Amino acid sequence: MRAKLDVEQYLRDLEHLVNIDSHTADPEGVEAVAGFFERAFAEAGWSVKRVDIGTGAGPCLEATNGQPPYDALLLGHMDTVFPKGTVSDRPYSRDGDRAFGPGVVDMKSGLLFALYAARELTATGASGSFCIAFNSEEETGSTSARPWIERLARESRSSIVLEPARASGNLVNQRKGIGHIHAVFHGRAAHAGVEPEKGASAVNEMARWIIELNELANVDRGTTLNTGLVSGGTGANVVPEVASITVDVRVRSLDEAERIAARIEEMKARPFTPGVSVDAGLVMTRPPMNPDAGTQRLCALVEEAAGEAGVEFGWQATGGGSDGNFTAALGVPTVDGMGPVGGRSHSVDEYLDLASLPSRFDMLMGVLARIPGSEV
Ligand SMILES: [Zn+2]
Repeated sequence: MRAKLDVEQYLRDLEHLVNIDSHTADPEGVEAVAGFFERAFAEAGWSVKRVDIGTGAGPCLEATNGQPPYDALLLGHMDTVFPKGTVSDRPYSRDGDRAFGPGVVDMKSGLLFALYAARELTATGASGSFCIAFNSEEETGSTSARPWIERLARESRSSIVLEPARASGNLVNQRKGIGHIHAVFHGRAAHAGVEPEKGASAVNEMARWIIELNELANVDRGTTLNTGLVSGGTGANVVPEVASITVDVRVRSLDEAERIAARIEEMKARPFTPGVSVDAGLVMTRPPMNPDAGTQRLCALVEEAAGEAGVEFGWQATGGGSDGNFTAALGVPTVDGMGPVGGRSHSVDEYLDLASLPSRFDMLMGVLARIPGSEV
């Protein structure tokens, strides 16, 4: 192997980081993680700065070893889905070939890959100009961090997302776009027994919408809709005046998002229930990530590096989003899942596969060595 990971030191750092609660809504926790990396990147000789995205979220972090255009933008996120207090219930632990704890694989282990890669690049005097960007609010959709990530992506020739590889070891080069439909139904309240005819049921309209929206799903095109939240009404004896739904939408292409948006406009213009009006719209929060020619060239480099590092894997599509969706949508070649292997993210069983650490790190370094001077 070319790049050797000091696994014992790495695991000491990982334990330290996992044992810092850093839920997206816990800016102090995220800041503590940022502080660790800020010091470490500076010690490694990289220039590093905090980036305030101005939402009350913790700071983002940007570390570079050169000037734009960067050969690669390495992306990670410091926030987790686990609320403050999780660490005291179940701190970092190790059992055989696995490590556990909140954010152990999604994605504190990937963040450390970036740090150890930075050190290695400096120590070996490797060529190339790189930018490492750590987001503080990825788990809630990166709405405020998006312009910053997109600016860095425009300054970069490729984008490498250090989210974990799948439990199977596979990497990701295709992700669905993600959007939400929020619809509010305004009817007219009335006594359900005395004069129901004077009412207009917002809930009845909502029910029709849920069924119609489900009909827009298309398995072949990869389009899914899930009405995950509903609310409405004030009592069984009242014709409901107000109701609302929030629907998760996943699409492989923006054409599908347009098809859904068009149907929403039609239904808004002609509600099913007389006397009910509807405010509704589809907002896409992450564009789809599809492998274009540039990404395919980057995938080929990854395959070469994997071969050299003795890593076997396949490419995989997923319905989950990441910050790679933003960079890919700008036409920047993007691969995702370049962190270590693990699984059960966002659950109490989240784990990191320790055996994957040396070879996946070696593979990452092999990719970083190949990009400068390549055509990607
Ligand atoms: Zn993640």
